[in-house]
Amino acid sequence: MDNFRYMKPATLEEAISSKSELGNKANFLLGGTDLFIAMDKGVTVPDAVIDLKGIESLKYLEERDGSIYIGATVTWTELLESELIKKHAPGLWEASDLVASVGVRNTATLVGNLCNAVPSLEGGAPLYVRDAVVFLEGKDGRREVAVKDFFTGVKRTVLKEDELMTGLKIPVVQDFGEVYIKMGRYEGEDLAQAGVSVFVDKNNNYRISLSAVAITPVRATKAENFLKGKKLNDELAAEAAELALEAISPISDLRSSKEYRIHMCRIMVKRGLVASVSRMETGLPALSTRLI
Ligand SMILES: Cc1cc2nc3c(=O)[nH]c(=O)nc-3n(C[C@H](O)[C@H](O)[C@H](O)COP(=O)(O)OP(=O)(O)OC[C@H]3O[C@@H](n4cnc5c(N)ncnc54)[C@H](O)[C@@H]3O)c2cc1C
Repeated sequence: MDNFRYMKPATLEEAISSKSELGNKANFLLGGTDLFIAMDKGVTVPDAVIDLKGIESLKYLEERDGSIYIGATVTWTELLESELIKKHAPGLWEASDLVASVGVRNTATLVGNLCNAVPSLEGGAPLYVRDAVVFLEGKDGRREVAVKDFFTGVKRTVLKEDELMTGLKIPVVQDFGEVYIKMGRYEGEDLAQAGVSVFVDKNNNYRISLSAVAITPVRATKAENFLKGKKLNDELAAEAAELALEAISPISDLRSSKEYRIHMCRIMVKRGLVASVSRMETGLPALSTRLI
């Protein structure tokens, strides 16, 4: 790894001012579990690293004004230990349990995961089905962006050079069922071969999102529209799963072939639909679901 300057601002203003000055020669740092690996491999070679973990205003995880607010420094472990997340965002809670391992989760953050923007990211699908909104701040001020508009490609987002993500919010809803299913090659540290999030509410509105099967997470809107207002049964779930496949464009890579991803997404969407409806009806709590 090349030498770099380490900066640890105490305020958001300082962080933004340093990034505005250094532009793409500097990288923000949260847990470092993506950044340091990229630096070690020489893929990312910043002159400076701006550590955000000392900024108190980025440390929050709370319910307020009908939403759950999650600050940038919140780790996967903190999400997993949060009763608020388990109750109000069980899909995200399940994803938190399936990211990497305890050691990585203790330092890695959801916001770092989103900003890194690789297709296999665990944080995308559970936020897509909840219409979450991310907070971006730079020298020209603060803006809110729907998470569905945040990703623009592989490792590409709408973040401007001087901007950072300060946090996000998830609207609180009542009477719903939700699930996140990850397919990996084995138990333990492995990126997803595919990820599926499903949400349903008592009016039979369904939301389905898939990750690791396109360059960004996707919403299966055709399947959602097909199911809208209908009470789920096995045939409808199978038809919707077929329609959901139209939203994805998987590739073959070292983790999976394209054909296997398609085959398993069909199964995961169907199972996700059945599980989320069953959770809504029975009030069963979240529990992590990994297919291997
Ligand atoms: C062994 C191992 C296993 C893993 N397993 C998984 C897994 O199962 N699922 C999964 O999804 N990921 C996995 N990862 C990837 C990684 O742990 C996650 O993506 C993690 O959430 C990244 O968070 P971080 O806080 O470490 O981000 P960092 O590494 O600190 O940052 C990631 C990127 O975002 C930028 N950045 C950081 N903060 C901001 C900000 N506030 N605003 C703008 N840009 C910012 C950084 O400059 C960097 O480019 C794994 C990594 C390792 C090393």
